[in-house]
Amino acid sequence: MKLWQAPARTLPITIRPIGGETIPSYARRLAEANDLYSTAILRAIGEHRYGTGRHLFRHDACLNDQAADRLAVFAGMPRDRLRRALPALSQGLPAYQKPLPMDRPAVYTYTPIPNPRLACHHCQIRNAVNPNPPTVLVRTTDPRSPLICYRHRRWLGNLADTTQYDLRHADEIITAERRYQRLLAGRRDTGWVSDLLITAWNITQAWATHPPIRLPTVVKWWRARAVALGIPDAPRQPIVTFPEAVTLTEILTNLDWRQHVAMAEDYDLGRFYQHIARSLGETHPQSAQATRRIIWGQRDALTYWVAAHRHRFRDLRLRHQAEQRRQWVPKPFPEKGHFR
Ligand SMILES: [Zn+2]
Repeated sequence: MKLWQAPARTLPITIRPIGGETIPSYARRLAEANDLYSTAILRAIGEHRYGTGRHLFRHDACLNDQAADRLAVFAGMPRDRLRRALPALSQGLPAYQKPLPMDRPAVYTYTPIPNPRLACHHCQIRNAVNPNPPTVLVRTTDPRSPLICYRHRRWLGNLADTTQYDLRHADEIITAERRYQRLLAGRRDTGWVSDLLITAWNITQAWATHPPIRLPTVVKWWRARAVALGIPDAPRQPIVTFPEAVTLTEILTNLDWRQHVAMAEDYDLGRFYQHIARSLGETHPQSAQATRRIIWGQRDALTYWVAAHRHRFRDLRLRHQAEQRRQWVPKPFPEKGHFR
């Protein structure tokens, strides 16, 4: 008899899942807390099509209903509570994958992209039952995986850099993360917001690598922030530009600005660049000048985003401008939600 064919029972020692944790990581901690072999719970949840070695700890797993029920029984907590923490429980199979069997508990494992990262080292030690805490892996881009551990005031890293930093003297990073959480809380589609954070972050990273001449104040802050965090030679570490990436995310998710960028005449785009410079706290007088060529240069990461966004709505914009010329009466733009 296979392990997954035996009746499931709640384990004597139960542990809490960590937000964003992968199923193999949680199953391993549950097994090791109960003195079982590290893959025992993973094998006991359901049938695996392709072996159950330790390599699975780098993977995540999709469970059918029966397998998810078994995990909940072993863990001693309702499935809903597990689902709130473990992202894979609310994700379906990849489109190319054959459906899992319905007549028995079954598991499909896959390599998430990007790869999972480590959870807060201090939390792992605190939560560990054994003196050697097992590695806790969390999904990097999932909104459930926090960027910061508030309990230990530590930066947990993102996909580009998973170094953990002490934030005891970096209040602005903590404040920025709270603003990002507020932004997520205000939207139903958190995946859309977290994707735009990555876009915004890539833009700020590009600025840190090739500083735009009209952002001298921001670039100066980045240098100072990098020194304060103890990484003076690397002002382009993602943590350094995070607060500005959040500010930019607030603007890129703003439907009024998305509508403006999609529909405005070329000469009117300067208002958008100007708003960004001001929101980032840029005090340089020239930054307030309104043409994009003067402010940002033509080949800037932000102008690429603007060009792509305008390209998406090109036909709509041209049609609208043509009608506008014919009618003389100002015609309203399509509803804002259209520009997501
Ligand atoms: Zn922690």
